[in-house]
Amino acid sequence: MSVFRPEIEEMEGYTPGFQPPEGEYIKLNTNENPYPPSPSALDALRNACGEDLRKYPDPMTAECRRVVAEREGARPQNVLCGNGSDDLLNMAIRAICPEDQAVAYPRPSYSLYSVLGRIRGARVETVEFPDDYSLPRRELARTGARLVLVPNPNSPSGTMLPPAEMGRLAEELEGVLLIDEAYADFADTDCMALALRHENVIVTRSLSKSYSLAGLRFGYAVASERLIEGLAKVKDSYNVSRLAAAGAAAALRDDEWMKKNVQQVRRTRERLVEGLHEMDFHCWPSSTNFVLTRPPEEWNAGELHEELFGRKILVRYFDTPRLRDCLRITVGTDEEIDALLDELRDICLTA
Ligand SMILES: *Cc1c(COP(=O)(O)O)cnc(C)c1O
Repeated sequence: MSVFRPEIEEMEGYTPGFQPPEGEYIKLNTNENPYPPSPSALDALRNACGEDLRKYPDPMTAECRRVVAEREGARPQNVLCGNGSDDLLNMAIRAICPEDQAVAYPRPSYSLYSVLGRIRGARVETVEFPDDYSLPRRELARTGARLVLVPNPNSPSGTMLPPAEMGRLAEELEGVLLIDEAYADFADTDCMALALRHENVIVTRSLSKSYSLAGLRFGYAVASERLIEGLAKVKDSYNVSRLAAAGAAAALRDDEWMKKNVQQVRRTRERLVEGLHEMDFHCWPSSTNFVLTRPPEEWNAGELHEELFGRKILVRYFDTPRLRDCLRITVGTDEEIDALLDELRDICLTA
C-alpha cells in the first residue's frame, strides 16, 4: 500500500523549465529577465543581512502591503503578499475550492494550476482556448467552478485578453475569478481595476519577470478585503522572509528601473518577431517577455529544440497535443536574440 493519498500517488508533479549549470547556455526557456534587479533592491537586501534575521518576519508584511497599495491605488487591506505569486495561487485554491468540486482554467496555459488543483483534491476542468487564444468565456462560465484561473497575458501563448472581456467573465461567474498577471508589466493594459471593482476578482502579480527577481520569490494579490482576509487564513504564517520583504519593497519603490528594462525587452521582442517572420515562422502577438512561435511545416519543433540545445541555446518545448509544433522563446538581450536567430538561420536555411 502506498503511503500517499491516491491523488498524490497518481499525479505528476509540476515540471519546471530546465535550469542548467551556470554560464554555459543562452537561457531563453523560463522567462527570466535578462537584466539585473534594481540596485536599490540589492542595497536593501544587503542591509537586511544583519542580526535582525534572528527574528521572525512580519507575518502580514505591512511595509510591502503599503508600497503595493500605493502602486495599485488600493488600500493595504486589499493586498496580500506571497512567496512568489505561485504561493498566492496555492492559497486561492486551498481557501476557495471545495474538495471534489470544480476548479477551471483555459488551456494551454500555466500547468501549475492543474497540479495545485489535484493536490487540493478538486475536480480540475479545462476549456480549450481557440487557436487565436481569445477567451472561451461562455464555456468557462458553464463549468460552474468555484474558482476560475486565467493568466492574462497568457503563457505560453503571450497573448492578451481585453480587460472588458475579463470583466464580463467576472460578472457571469458564480465563483471567483483569479487573473494571473505575472506578465502584465510587459503589456499595454491590465485588469487591476477589476480587482477593486468586483467582489469576486483576485489579481496576482509577480516580481519574478518584470522586476528581474525570480530568485527572491515575491508576489502579491489584490482583491476585496473579504477575499484577502479569507486567503490570509490559509497562508503559511511567515510566508515572506525578511530578505524577500526588504528586497521587494525597495524594488517596488524603484519602478523606473523596472520600466526601463521592460521597454528594452519590448524592443528586443520586436526584433525577435521580425527575425522569425523572415524565416516564415508564425508568431502569436506577444504582450509578454516571450514569443510563442510555430516553425514552417517542413520543420519539426521538437527537433529544432534539440538542435538549439546542442548549440547551447535553451528554449521551451512542450510535448503536448496543442504545443508540440511550437517553441516558446524568452526575450533575452539583443545579443542573445541575435545569436538565437543566427543559429536558427543556420539550421533552417542551410539544411
Ligand atoms: C512565472 C509565472 C508565475 C509564477 O510567478 P512567481 O512569482 O515566480 O511564483 C505565475 N503565473 C504565470 C503564468 C507565470 O508564468
